[in-house]
Amino acid sequence: MDIKKGIAVSPGVVISTALVLDAEDLVIPRRQIEACAVEEELARLRQAVAQSAADLQSLRASIASDHGKEIAAIFDFHIGLLKDKTVINQITAEIVNNHSTAEHAVSVVMRRLAATFQRMSDRYFSERVKDLHDIEKRLLRKLIGSRHEDLSKLEHDVVIIAHDLLPSQTAMLDRTRVKGFATDVGGRTSHTAIVARALGIPAVVGLGNITAEVSGGDTVIIDGSRGVVIVNPDEQQLAEHREFGERLFRFETELQKLRDLPAETRDGVRVSVLANIEFPEEIDEALRRGAEGIGLYRTEFLYLASDHEPTEEDHYRAYVDAISRLDGRQLVIRTLDLGADKYTQEKQLNPERNPFLGDRSIRLCLHDIPMFKRQLRAILRASVQGNVKIMFPMITTIMELRQATMVLRDVMEELEDEGIEMKRDLQIGAMIEVPSAAIMADQIAKEVRFFSIGTNDLIQYTLAVDRTNERVAGLFSPAHPAVLKLIRDTIEAAARNNIDCSVCGEMAGEPLYTLLLLGLGLKTFSMNGPDIPEVKKVIRSTTMEHARWVAQQVMSFDSERQVMHFLKEETRKLLPEAF
Ligand code: PEP
Ligand code: MG
Repeated sequence: MDIKKGIAVSPGVVISTALVLDAEDLVIPRRQIEACAVEEELARLRQAVAQSAADLQSLRASIASDHGKEIAAIFDFHIGLLKDKTVINQITAEIVNNHSTAEHAVSVVMRRLAATFQRMSDRYFSERVKDLHDIEKRLLRKLIGSRHEDLSKLEHDVVIIAHDLLPSQTAMLDRTRVKGFATDVGGRTSHTAIVARALGIPAVVGLGNITAEVSGGDTVIIDGSRGVVIVNPDEQQLAEHREFGERLFRFETELQKLRDLPAETRDGVRVSVLANIEFPEEIDEALRRGAEGIGLYRTEFLYLASDHEPTEEDHYRAYVDAISRLDGRQLVIRTLDLGADKYTQEKQLNPERNPFLGDRSIRLCLHDIPMFKRQLRAILRASVQGNVKIMFPMITTIMELRQATMVLRDVMEELEDEGIEMKRDLQIGAMIEVPSAAIMADQIAKEVRFFSIGTNDLIQYTLAVDRTNERVAGLFSPAHPAVLKLIRDTIEAAARNNIDCSVCGEMAGEPLYTLLLLGLGLKTFSMNGPDIPEVKKVIRSTTMEHARWVAQQVMSFDSERQVMHFLKEETRKLLPEAF
């Protein structure tokens, strides 16, 4: 049993079997083999060991001739270990006694060895831990080879243990089988966290080296409420967490009763509660949770889920699918927000040194007009079938917004020439997620019909904190007074210019900030579906007078700590179960 503490990013408790997803996409399955298959498995192991040793010998020889014997000696430990009878005997015993697959046996034994080496005070051994992981991977590559697990068709419920989940990986996952995530790296608004909250499954990120400490098939508790992961728990821990999970479930069931009630304060002020989605299929669940429409459709997932550039028809089909599920409710389609964390760097021919400050989002679209136009054509074509709005992400200058709008007008002309129907007056909005846009909100407001504040990026760019980096996760906070001022100014600029304003970053779904946002005058909240009931509960439990008072107090504080403390106190009075 091993207890690991990380960053709690998606609440709930799950107890399930680990599926370890390696950074290289190697999945280490734990299948029980039949007794009659033991010999076959041992033969696979022998072959993998022999091939790996042969590879290492030839690698050693070529490095010795190019760079000298000293550097080549690095491989002596690797080759020696593959010949070490005690190690091979342990792997063999795991297969014979526990009827494990060869890959699972390799993984268990090598990780056990790595943990022993890690604890040794002798530096020679502690420095060999990386070599052990290297050897494990080499053997696994041989064993798994073409037997790659198809992540879209899992046979059992699992929790995914990964270094980090790439958007392209989550796009492929069999979402009905995945019950939780635990990752080595990441922060509150990293992709894994957002997906987990959208799916309503527990997740803990920033755990350090969890991938090295869990083997496929281990029983794991992921406590996404308290940020704890327990590997191979004992009976008492299992019982405690089952009980905690049941309590949470009862609380959620209670909140579900709010689903069909309006998001209205006690003094009768009505606000809109919308959902964020990455795929149209998520809409049904969002509506079940009480969403009144979709405030953010992250369309880049169409790219990330596919191995080819989506065609105009691919876009069109996805949008029509989304519209058909919404029955006239609004759908805010955000144009592609590719780049930075949402574009696997391998896909780029020239990886950027600093992708978050690079060619991402609207910049990328304006650099690739044919790609941008393909999407805009599809949105416009689909617009006649529903209540569609269009939103441009990462606007940093007014010129960018004007260029994007110009391309949209161009596409409208083209469609008109072709005699294709569209909604010419569809609403255009801008995401306010960079400080420059928040500061210029009054000017930008004159050119759009609505704002949507992307707090995930706004916090990252205001506080100079990488939203995906667990090492600085403690500095990433919506409660920083500088962030709050930018949010307040943006909401006020929208009101002065008579346009709508929503928040669609993760902050909108955190009940801790509901009173504050309400008090600042926010009328539209867009969040992950599972967050809706709690936020609605806070809205329905307060009055505007109280919310305004809360906002006034908060805006007078000069530290994040004061803000958090005060908001916790005030929110606890309305939603004691959540804190
Ligand atoms: C944001 O930045 O707050 C946002 C909603 O967009 P994303 O998380 O997709 O960057
Ligand atoms: Mg963003």
